[in-house]
Amino acid sequence: MSSDKNGHNLKKTADAIIVGGGVHGASAAYHLAKAGVDVVLFEKEYLSSGGSGRSAAGLRQHFGTEVNCRLAKYNLECFPTLQEDLGGELDLEFTQWGYLWVAYTEESMTQLRKNVALQQSLNIPSENLTPQEIKRRWPYLNVDRMIGAAFCAKDGHINPHTLTMAYGRAAEKLGARILTYTPVEKLLASNGRITGVQSAGEEWSAPRVLLTAGPWSTLLAATVGVELPVTAERHNVLVTEQIEPFNCPMTLCLDDGAYFKQVPNGSFFFGRDDPDEPKTMESGNSAKFLEGVTRSVLQRIPALKGVRVVHQWSGPYDVTPDHQAVIDWTPVEGLWVNCGWSGHGLQFGPSGGRLAKEMFFGESTFVDIRNFRLSRFEEGDLFMEPAFI
Ligand SMILES: Cc1cc2nc3c(=O)[nH]c(=O)nc-3n(C[C@H](O)[C@H](O)[C@H](O)COP(=O)(O)OP(=O)(O)OC[C@H]3O[C@@H](n4cnc5c(N)ncnc54)[C@H](O)[C@@H]3O)c2cc1C
Repeated sequence: MSSDKNGHNLKKTADAIIVGGGVHGASAAYHLAKAGVDVVLFEKEYLSSGGSGRSAAGLRQHFGTEVNCRLAKYNLECFPTLQEDLGGELDLEFTQWGYLWVAYTEESMTQLRKNVALQQSLNIPSENLTPQEIKRRWPYLNVDRMIGAAFCAKDGHINPHTLTMAYGRAAEKLGARILTYTPVEKLLASNGRITGVQSAGEEWSAPRVLLTAGPWSTLLAATVGVELPVTAERHNVLVTEQIEPFNCPMTLCLDDGAYFKQVPNGSFFFGRDDPDEPKTMESGNSAKFLEGVTRSVLQRIPALKGVRVVHQWSGPYDVTPDHQAVIDWTPVEGLWVNCGWSGHGLQFGPSGGRLAKEMFFGESTFVDIRNFRLSRFEEGDLFMEPAFI
């Protein structure tokens, strides 16, 4: 078999084609290649160039639906050994500094208590905290107006770039072909069956195609007549200069969606949900975000006053009407999708790859994912996730 300069074989056929090299596509390539599947992944830029690399990369088990709690628990069990499992070449910067959801209204606190009860019933070690307990554990947090919080000490952070790239490299070592800077122009189908994809005007054929293109999945699915209710929303992150790490959990404030966290190199990330941000896949920054997020975060952690901002970026969430993912086969035989992860998809990378492999082989999935089916939108049977940001 002839090969190109990167050693990729040049045949334009595969058992499975993956479109999109974010964490879900890269993890799927790894799991499929590990199971002996001949797989090709197409990425229009570099691995992690979409939502994955723009993520704040918080890892949490705080969800309000059972399937998300079960999957999140599985992922948190994977992360501690993942660096070694993927070959140990890249530092995944995994830390478990905890994740704190702070409520400012009785309504939010009631929902947090419900979520924690569900999590505890599934053996997730989360707990409810009073403002006094919060002040005792993290004296530098301002607890004015706080009603309480939910906390899980096992939650944490990972580097989203090295995570995605480590999956990609491990997949390549197992024989997967990872084609970066190679956009797919359209999917190809005939008589209701997927037949492959077109890239650079050339046809690649495969009996199965997995779409993991984040918000771009909608446009690609439409090329074979599949409608995905997945839209883009721009979200921003700001990064500060590095300061000596201290024991600061990722903290999310439920009154205005502001969050902050320290990452292992000492920088703080600040983020904030802003409904006025453009609904676009394009990146871009706004001064309004900088002002709004700084004001919100400094009220909660005044100790950061004066810290310098060194960087700001934005990236797209891929949002569905119920803020839940779509993981399902589509009406086009052989085409399946995994997208619509809103602001919480990075941490579901390990489970995303495992589920892709199980679905490819027609195995029963390790967690029941019926609630993520595509038909729920047409059926009017939305499956709301109460714990989304
Ligand atoms: C600001 C921000 C903060 C976030 N914070 C968190 C967080 O704290 N925790 C968390 O878990 N999640 C977070 N998320 C969400 C998380 O980043 C996403 O849910 C997750 O990364 C989605 O991964 P993915 O692999 O499905 O998609 P993506 O990472 O978006 O990957 C899709 C890929 O498809 C490629 N592509 C598109 N079109 C084509 C084409 N035609 N041909 C080939 N390739 C194509 C893109 O280039 C892209 O690389 C955040 C997101 C943002 C934007």
